[in-house]
Amino acid sequence: KAKKHLGQHFLTDENIARKIVEGLSFEGYKNVMEVGPGMGVLTKYLLEKDQHIYLAEIDNESIEYLKNNYPKVTEETFVGDFLKQDFQFTKNEQIAIIGNFPYNISSQILFQIVDHYELIPEMVGMFQKEVAERTAAVPRTKDYGILTVLIQAYYDTSYLFTVHENVFNPPPKVKSGVIRLTRNPKEGLSGNEVLFKQIVKAGFNQRRKKLSNALKILNIPEALKTHEFMDKRAEELSVSDFISFTQLWKDNQ
Ligand code: SAM
Repeated sequence: KAKKHLGQHFLTDENIARKIVEGLSFEGYKNVMEVGPGMGVLTKYLLEKDQHIYLAEIDNESIEYLKNNYPKVTEETFVGDFLKQDFQFTKNEQIAIIGNFPYNISSQILFQIVDHYELIPEMVGMFQKEVAERTAAVPRTKDYGILTVLIQAYYDTSYLFTVHENVFNPPPKVKSGVIRLTRNPKEGLSGNEVLFKQIVKAGFNQRRKKLSNALKILNIPEALKTHEFMDKRAEELSVSDFISFTQLWKDNQ
């Protein structure tokens, strides 16, 4: 029986499962970690690949099921809670991430990936449609926000396809979307990550206001007070605008 507090909705459509797995390139890395394998609908296809498969799962019943039904899956395959991973066991080897993710922790999963972007070249996975759309949003739309900019600073994102509620057991309340992230850290960000996050968050937390107002809480450097971006709203700035603005901010602090 599915456990609601663990975000369990089991995918019942084999074709969709295969399509999600085929969303990864399987090139340039030897390791793949699946988040929340559940009963193994994606795992089955992953185990056909040459990569070393790690499974992050916190439900003991699922872990027992997978060990009993997939000969390649052993105690050593499991790494525990995805949000607690430090990825030390990879010994600095690259590892791709895949999953039909538990939707109650979507943002935390995405930030966990961004926090370890140096080890994670690629991610393919399913989120509630609204979150999937936010990761791939473009400026001047309502979906474009903190999540979009913080992810796109490190990854190129693409929205692959939409999945209907009725192919899950139990069906979730909302549609789902499958996305791919391909690592591409944008130039100029390095060393400025903390300030970058502060500016992006402050800007979008008051997204109807011009940046001259929204960023007031950050102590704007004098030289930037007349910058052309100050007359704009956060959603009008591209990811590279935010990065160059952060650099300028730093230089004038
Ligand atoms: N992959 C299966 C499928 O497609 O049918 C199950 C997907 S279900 C939406 C999400 C899975 O994530 C569940 O198996 C749940 O136990 C697991 N899960 C929940 N929180 C987790 C966490 N913090 N780390 C790893 N797995 C988690």
